[in-house]
Amino acid sequence: MFPTIHSQRVLAARGPKNPVVPHAAPLVVTESEPDAELQLRSATTVFLLGKECPFRCLMCDLWRNTTDQRTEPGSLVRQLAAVLPSITHRDTIKLYNASNFFDPQAVPTSDLAELAALVRDFKCVVVENHPKLIGPAVQAFADQINGQLQVAMGLETSDPERLSWLNKQMTVADYDLACRTLLDWGVSIRTFLLLPAPGVPSAEMVSHTLASVRHALAMGSEVTSLIPLRAGNGILDQLILDGSVTSAEGSLIIQTFELALQLPRQQRQRVLLDLWDLEKFFHTEGNRHALRERLINFNSRQRIDA
Ligand code: SF4
Repeated sequence: MFPTIHSQRVLAARGPKNPVVPHAAPLVVTESEPDAELQLRSATTVFLLGKECPFRCLMCDLWRNTTDQRTEPGSLVRQLAAVLPSITHRDTIKLYNASNFFDPQAVPTSDLAELAALVRDFKCVVVENHPKLIGPAVQAFADQINGQLQVAMGLETSDPERLSWLNKQMTVADYDLACRTLLDWGVSIRTFLLLPAPGVPSAEMVSHTLASVRHALAMGSEVTSLIPLRAGNGILDQLILDGSVTSAEGSLIIQTFELALQLPRQQRQRVLLDLWDLEKFFHTEGNRHALRERLINFNSRQRIDA
């Protein structure tokens, strides 16, 4: 059904990485996100620079801002310490390293205690990790902070066939097991879903994505974030050109998000739409500003009547 995808093909389609400066202070972005009581809180993402993820997912472009070498011990601690004084709130901090926080090649094990100490007083600490890399280090990290640890995992799609096509080297069962383990440890779950998953035609985009949202909610995902599929990593561009992948359309993105917000869910479960660079999916200049404001409102209030 789909053209064969393997890591070599993904790598061969790539362009160059961005030049990186290992000792520079990392990029920091602060937004607002609703907490479990739907109170708007500050959420700051710190984009840490370290070693590239060993997986080679079809849709990933995070490798662009990574190093080829194993992350040096102490480097991430220095990066985080350099930007912490500029983060004045203590609501949510996301330590995103364009890889897996509990991969010792990307985040040296010897740095975990110091990183935990630096973020100890935040109400919520979010890190990204592949479902197959959930292990005792996660629980140990959670025990070292005063706030809530939340692990963000890319399920991408709950359709087993399409998930296997993404070269993510995991199954839906791996995600489910990771969810159960994290919840047993008192760790919260954030789930990333693609909108649409590669290979889903426009006519099925809404129903397919809603099925994935339902699955994440059923597994206890506290925050489920819809990520519009973005070309530009090389392999996706090739697959769009040959017709194997359909990119997202703005109107379908909004329709899907509106319906996802109306799905039954526990009160503390939030469904968000990732708004980064969203304007590129809308072809008319028209009311882009008003549209963004409307979607920010949906995210904040978790209702579509805003
Ligand atoms: S696991 Fe995440 S960081 Fe690694 S290649 Fe896949 S999408 Fe990218």
